[in-house]
Amino acid sequence: MGFAPLAPGSTIGILGGGQLGRMLALAAARLGFDTVVLTPEPNACATRVATRSIVAAYDDAGALEALSQTASVVTFEFENVPARVVEQLRALDVAVAPGARALAVAQDRVDEKTFLNACGAATVDFVAVETVADIVAGLERLGAPALLKTRREGYDGKGQAWVKTVAEAEAAFAAIGGKPAILEAKASFRRELSVIAARGWGGESAAYPLGENHHRDGVLRRTIAPAPDVSPAALAQAQLFARHILEELDYVGVMGIELFELEDGRLLVNEIAPRVHNSGHWTLDGCEVDQFEQHIRAVAGWPLGPVEPLAAVQMENLLGEEIDAWREIAAEPRARLWDYGKGEARPGRKMGHVNRLRPLG
Ligand code: AMP
Repeated sequence: MGFAPLAPGSTIGILGGGQLGRMLALAAARLGFDTVVLTPEPNACATRVATRSIVAAYDDAGALEALSQTASVVTFEFENVPARVVEQLRALDVAVAPGARALAVAQDRVDEKTFLNACGAATVDFVAVETVADIVAGLERLGAPALLKTRREGYDGKGQAWVKTVAEAEAAFAAIGGKPAILEAKASFRRELSVIAARGWGGESAAYPLGENHHRDGVLRRTIAPAPDVSPAALAQAQLFARHILEELDYVGVMGIELFELEDGRLLVNEIAPRVHNSGHWTLDGCEVDQFEQHIRAVAGWPLGPVEPLAAVQMENLLGEEIDAWREIAAEPRARLWDYGKGEARPGRKMGHVNRLRPLG
């Protein structure tokens, strides 16, 4: 589909007011765009850098009407925006990117894996779970241990439980709230990688070098990028997965694709995020055009920017009180601090990140 490039001075709507929305709004401002952020949370950190904000529920009819009147295109920073909101906006005749299908697919882990396999992106084996009996049958098929995850609304390792034996099935189901779920075979991975890819309205696409991701308690702590020792075959496979996924969804914008690198070197897709992604924050200081500008360029119908790295980056998330180290970080010569301006440093809350740069080796 063609899309006439938006001129600077146009307004871009952003659903969601967190740090991803904040960094999107900053990138948009740099290119001369205004932004309007719709968020249910008063004081959300994106609202302090956006041109305007609307504090209302995502499906508030008046808010969507107001958004459609000011924005030339609407995007989102949060994948749990109800997919019907995208339909409502489309009915108001405003362009939305990425589209409703990408949101819907990414919101349900069973639909997501079914979609990924259908477009040639390998995943772990899995079964859909409605009852404890499904878990028991799934363990038989997939082997133990297996990982039980809620189908919807899980993030950062929440809503997940390992099931080691049939005897644990009932307790595991209770632990995730007895909700519709997916049981996944255990991936024996040597490391976790991700690829940040982008696609424009005209179908052109680009992918950044892979990042190597380190998690603690299900939360991303560090990304090393470009990931060291990526074989040409693994890089080609990641790029092929990305191209197929973006094409198949007729996607416009930046997507984060989380990968497992298996012991034998093959890649599996863990999950996709239809938005800019935490593991792409290294691009802010490691590339000429970072993932936020890339996303704004894509949804605004501008040409995609270059994705080659200019530096080797170690990105570290600053959770909770870790943000108090801002003085020391500010004094480090090759560290670039990104503080999300969130005020209250609750334990585990993503307060900022730091990119530490080295020359490319
Ligand atoms: P997710 O919420 O699906 O991204 O999962 C959070 C983390 O749990 C991942 O980053 C992995 O470290 C781990 N994990 C998720 N799925 C699996 C799996 N099928 N096998 C092994 N580890 C997994």
